[in-house]
Amino acid sequence: MDFYVVLGIERKASRADVEKAYTRLARRYHPDINPGDSEAAAFFQRVSEAYETLSDPSRRKAYDADGAPQASSPRASVEFRGFDFSTPTSGASATFSELFSDVLTRPADDEVDTHKGSDLFGEIALGFDEALKGTERQLTVTRLDTCAVCAGSGLRRSTETRCTHCHGRGATQWRRGHMVFARTCDRCGGSGRQRLRPCVACRAEGTATVTEEITIQVPAGVADGARMRVGGKGNAGRRGAGPGDLYITALVAPHRLFGRQGDDVTVQVPIEVHEAALGATITIPTPDGKTRLDIPAGTESGREFRLGGLGAPSPRSGSRGDLVVEVRIVVPLVDDERSKALLREFGRLRRANVRDDLFTE
Ligand SMILES: [Zn+2]
Ligand SMILES: [Zn+2]
Repeated sequence: MDFYVVLGIERKASRADVEKAYTRLARRYHPDINPGDSEAAAFFQRVSEAYETLSDPSRRKAYDADGAPQASSPRASVEFRGFDFSTPTSGASATFSELFSDVLTRPADDEVDTHKGSDLFGEIALGFDEALKGTERQLTVTRLDTCAVCAGSGLRRSTETRCTHCHGRGATQWRRGHMVFARTCDRCGGSGRQRLRPCVACRAEGTATVTEEITIQVPAGVADGARMRVGGKGNAGRRGAGPGDLYITALVAPHRLFGRQGDDVTVQVPIEVHEAALGATITIPTPDGKTRLDIPAGTESGREFRLGGLGAPSPRSGSRGDLVVEVRIVVPLVDDERSKALLREFGRLRRANVRDDLFTE
C-alpha cells in the first residue's frame, strides 16, 4: 500500500494537500456515512493510516526515506473509488454493462505479452543407414534469443525519476459516468517512481537475434518425414515470455535395395526358377549384413518371408521391426541348346496343364 496512492496525492503534496485529501475521502468513506459497508470501512481504515503517517512531518520523512513499498501483487488491481457527481455525464442512457465494460475487460496498460515465442521449423537430410542407426547433426539456427543486456525484461535500471505513466501519483484513474475508478499504476507498481527504462539494445522487446549451433540427436529408426522437436529452441517470446520450440523434419534418402514400411524394412530378392521349384538356401542382404534364407520347394513369385528383429528400431520403444523379404522368380533367358533341350524334356514330363482350370465347367 502506497500512502500517497491511497490519498490520491503527489509525493510533493503539502501538509494542506494531505489534510484536504483526507477530509475529502473521510466525507465519502467514513463508516458513519456508510453504515454496514465493509468495503468502505476497510478503505477508510487505509485512508486513516495514510493520513496519520503523512500528516506527521517526522513520520512522513521516515516513510519517504524508506521508499514507497512495491505493489504487493504484480497484477494491477482495479479499485472502485466511488461516485463523483461533480461533472455531468454525457451518456445518461448508458446501461450498466456499458458503464462497466471497460472496467471489466480493459487490460492493464501496456500489458506484458505473455504469449510464448514462435516455433521454428527446419529440415535435415539423412542417408537411409543414418536414419536406421541414429546419428547426431549440427544445425546452424538463427533465432530470437533472450536479450542478454536486460535478461529479456525489455527494461534496464536507471536513475530514479518520476513515473511518466501516472505522473508520480502511483495510480491511474478514469471515470465512467459518475463512477470513478483507480488502478495501481502497473508501470511503477504504485510507487510513483520509475527506476527502469526501456532497454536500448533490444528496443524493449526483450529479444535479440542470435545464430546458434544446435546439436540434433536423431533417434535410431527415424522415418522419412518424421518431425523431431527440440524444446525451447524456437524464438524467445517478447519481454521474457517463454521460447517456442524448434521442429526438425527428417528427409531420409531412398536406399538402392531397402525400403521402409513403418518399422519394417522391405527388400525384393530375385530367385531362379529351379530354386523356387526345388527349394534352396540363398544368401540375402539385410541392414545388418548378409544372412541365409531357406526357400521352400514350390515357392510362388511374390511370396513374403518375415525375419524378426532385422527391421528398423522403433524411435519410441527401441525394439526392432521385421525384415520383409519378397521373392521374385526371374524367368531365365535361355539361349543355349543344352538348356533348351532340358526345358523341352521338362515340358514333356509335365503332364498337368496349368490352364486346365480355365476350361472346366
Ligand atoms: Zn534488452
Ligand atoms: Zn506510475
